Amino acid sequence: MERPLRLPARDCVDQLYLSISYIRSRTSVVPFHPAFTHDSMFMKSTRLSLVLLFFVALGPVHSAHASRQGDSSFVVLLGTGMPRPDPKASGPATAIVVGKLVFLVDAGPGVERQLCAAGLPISGVTALFVTHLHSDHTLGYPDLIFTSWVMGRKTALQAYGPTGLQRMTDHLLAAYQEDIEIRTDDLEHETPFGYRVHVHEVDAGVVFDSAGVRVTAIPALHGAWKRSYAYRFDTPGRSFVVSGDTRPCEALLRASEGVDVLVHEVYPAVRLKPEPRPGGEDWPRYMHAYHTSDEELGALAARAQPKLLVLNHLVRMGGSDEELLTGIRKGGFTGKAFVGKDLDRY
Ligand SMILES: [Zn+2]
Ligand SMILES: [Zn+2]
Repeated sequence: MERPLRLPARDCVDQLYLSISYIRSRTSVVPFHPAFTHDSMFMKSTRLSLVLLFFVALGPVHSAHASRQGDSSFVVLLGTGMPRPDPKASGPATAIVVGKLVFLVDAGPGVERQLCAAGLPISGVTALFVTHLHSDHTLGYPDLIFTSWVMGRKTALQAYGPTGLQRMTDHLLAAYQEDIEIRTDDLEHETPFGYRVHVHEVDAGVVFDSAGVRVTAIPALHGAWKRSYAYRFDTPGRSFVVSGDTRPCEALLRASEGVDVLVHEVYPAVRLKPEPRPGGEDWPRYMHAYHTSDEELGALAARAQPKLLVLNHLVRMGGSDEELLTGIRKGGFTGKAFVGKDLDRY
């Protein structure tokens, strides 16, 4: 099956840095990103070998955007998983990287480890955008708050999301009060108040517009959740939509028309059936109200015509990549589509 590689770069130097970052993300857990890269002895002594490694690494994979000069924005799938723990698929989290800025959509379990694996900053992202408050999308939120502090964050984490995010944040800070006191007052000497979070509870519409990046919250349709968002990112070079959790949604479709990359949740329609557990007879009803099948996504994408469709937050129900892509085609989308894997970048 065709495997993706997405290495958009502003220029050759950036392309090299991003490519090295990509290579390291597959081979190492050492943080590496232009935002905190210094011209160290390590870089000087290993630059030649890394250049060679870069060209070797590009060999066998498709570089969908590698030739596109002028855009330095890309998306990294930090976690493509679902609530069931899977060592190969971390909890929902997606990074939009724009030059040195790193925007995060959701903070599922394992988010700080996945940021590290992707070579992105572990000491704080530019901003977090929470789609909704389901636990699988927010269990990594305390990790993001406290680990980034312990790793050096000194300023407030900027967190955007639906009503309820402030209350969740307040409770988390209260829950970790003893940790905060010991880390601040005893021998660790962490920066006082470095754990802070500036919460922005947002309505649908433009929620962030700075440094050439505009982020729009799109009202999603996620069952009984009153507030659940998808987010669209418009950067100087490219555009992205990340669905969060939603059943097929017209607002999301309109926001995705012609977008460069649509990252969307999915499950295989042909495998949906009642489950043998108490309440399991409602499982199909739940999935129809809260989530989007491959066939529904194929139909949505056929209308929206994203340049690239990436399947994410996969509730596989035992289905293979090929089955999911068959469902997408059955829905009518004939464009480029990939089944996302953790640490893929597009
Ligand atoms: Zn959800
Ligand atoms: Zn979810």
